[in-house]
Amino acid sequence: MPACLLCQSQIQIKLTLPWLLSWQPMHRPVVCNRCWQRFEPIKRPHACPGCGRAQDQPTPCLDCTRWPVLAGFHNEALFRYNEAMHAYFHQYKFSGDYQLRQVFATVFQQAIRQRITRTATLVVIIPVTPATMQTRGFNQVSGWMPTIETVAVLTTQAATKLVPQSKKDRHARLQTPQPFRLDTPANITGQSILLVDDIYTTGRTIRHAASLLLENGAKSVTGLTLAR
Ligand SMILES: [Zn+2]
Ligand SMILES: [Zn+2]
Repeated sequence: MPACLLCQSQIQIKLTLPWLLSWQPMHRPVVCNRCWQRFEPIKRPHACPGCGRAQDQPTPCLDCTRWPVLAGFHNEALFRYNEAMHAYFHQYKFSGDYQLRQVFATVFQQAIRQRITRTATLVVIIPVTPATMQTRGFNQVSGWMPTIETVAVLTTQAATKLVPQSKKDRHARLQTPQPFRLDTPANITGQSILLVDDIYTTGRTIRHAASLLLENGAKSVTGLTLAR
C-alpha cells in the first residue's frame, strides 16, 4: 500500500466495480483522503472575477477595486490559501521536498487542459529568479505540470524579490518597477495566454507579468494560480 506524501499513513485504495469495468488505467492517489479534504477548492461561479478569491458572490473584491484596471487580464485560483495549503507550501517550496509536486500535479494539469480546450493558446509560467533557482533547485510551478507544453518568454532579474511583498504598503507595491523582461515578443502576438503561478497574494507579480504580455501584443492573459 502506498503511503500518504503528507502524513505518511497508508492509503487505502478501494476498487469499485464501475472502475473495474471501465478498464481505465489505475490512478494512484498520493495523499490520503483526510489530508486531501483539508484543502478547500474555490467554487468558480462565486469567486472574485478579478483575482479568483473565494467569495459568496462574483463581484470584484476590495483588493481588486484598488488595482489600476488591466484590461484583458483576470486571475483564477483553484484552492484557498488556508492552513493546510500554507503547510504544504512550506514543505514544498522552503524545505524543498520536490516529491510533493505530485500532490497537485493531477488537478493542476487538468485545470490547464480545460483552459487549453476553451481559450488558451499558449501556456507561460512565471519564472523564478536565478537566485531562487540556485537555492531551491526547481521551479515549484513547473513541478506540477510535467506533461504540459509551455513557452518560456519571460525572464526575471535577481533583485526583484529582495523586499518581501508583505513588508511594503499598497502604494509601494503599485510603484515597484517591472521585474520581468520579455525575451521573444513575436511569439505572443495575438495569443490568449494562460499565465501560471503558485499563489496569488497581492497580485503584484502576476499583474506585472500580465501587463508586459498585454503591452506586447497578447490578446488576453488569464492567470491561473494553485492558491489564492
Ligand atoms: Zn495523509
Ligand atoms: Zn479580487
